[in-house]
Parts: sequence; C-alpha cells; structure tokens
Amino acid sequence: MNASPVTIPARRGKAAFVAAGQSIKVINTHGEQVVDTWAFNRADITEFMSMEHTRSGSRHIIPRVGDAMLTNHRRPILTLTEDTSGGIHDTLCAACDRYRYEGLGCTEPHDNCTDNLAAGLAELGLTPPETPSPLNLFMNIPWTPDGEIAFEPPISTPGCYVVLRAEMDLVIAFSACPQDLLPINGRAGKPTEAHFVIA
Ligand SMILES: [Zn+2]
Repeated sequence: MNASPVTIPARRGKAAFVAAGQSIKVINTHGEQVVDTWAFNRADITEFMSMEHTRSGSRHIIPRVGDAMLTNHRRPILTLTEDTSGGIHDTLCAACDRYRYEGLGCTEPHDNCTDNLAAGLAELGLTPPETPSPLNLFMNIPWTPDGEIAFEPPISTPGCYVVLRAEMDLVIAFSACPQDLLPINGRAGKPTEAHFVIA
C-alpha cells in the first residue's frame, strides 16, 4: 500500500507496480498536462493495455466511467472508475517520439513520451516490448463529422483526476508529455509535473 503521491516529473516518465484490486488516482496537478498512460501485465509484459482492443470492446472513442481497458489479449487490465476532469481524453494518437519532433521541425533532441516509457520501466528493471498506443489522459483531440482531428488545449482544471482500478497485477507507466510545439499541454506550451497515488 502506497498512499502518498508520486511525482511524474515534468517532461519525464514514471512507472510502478500495482496489485490487482488497487486503484491508481492520476492527478492533473496544474490542470493542463497530458499524461500518457500504459499498463502491462506484470506476469508477461508482452500483454499490455491496447487502445485498439479497448475501443472494440467499449465502442467508445473516449473511455467513460465504467469502461474496461482491454489488453492485446482482450482481457480487462484497468477500469475507469472516477473522472473529475470533464471526460476528455485521447485514444487515437501514438506516443510522441523523436520522429514526431523531427517532423515538427526540431533539429535538437527533444524529450518524448516513447523514451520516457522506456526510462520509467528501466527504473523497475524492465524493458517495454514495444511502445503501445497510450491512453492519453486529459489530451483534447476533438474530431469533426468529416473525420478531421485537431490538437487542442486540455479542458481539465488544476487538481482534477481520474481513478483507474487494476484488474490484474500490472505495471503502470506514465509520461508527463513534453510536447511544447503544439498546444496540447496548454497554450503557454509549458509542460508541468503531474502526480499519482496508488491505494
Ligand atoms: Zn508525448
């Protein structure tokens, strides 16, 4: 049992072990920070939370309270049990990576969620089998009836949170997304830290 908040440092990743039945509260401390979220079966990390499989099961593009997130083996791994953020999250976009920033014109190395996942798991002695498409908590990617998407600032507010219940023993991993070229972390373009609590 770990009831004290853990920091997901700004622009960095953090991972933790979670037992089946425990809940993870993910707090948008400053209100405008996207938190990329991954979950892996602790017994076999080649089984992991999959947005593609989750959408097929829930029939929702954005998870709602009560929805189960499914693994690539179509088993529940997390259930969304509370959401005070306004309910806007993203399941469409891949984690950012060096190639994303190169495509956006960066000529210098840029922090990215793909590297943050690897670094977070490395602290636990683990290597991700790949970079699954994350559950992008608080990320506001609206779409039109024409099928166009946009990258918008979050609608979430300081201190809002979601609660995810673990449906198996798992490894949870987070990245405080370092995107500062698009307004997904607020129009100020200043990524911040976020926090989580396992209880
Ligand atoms: Zn990112």
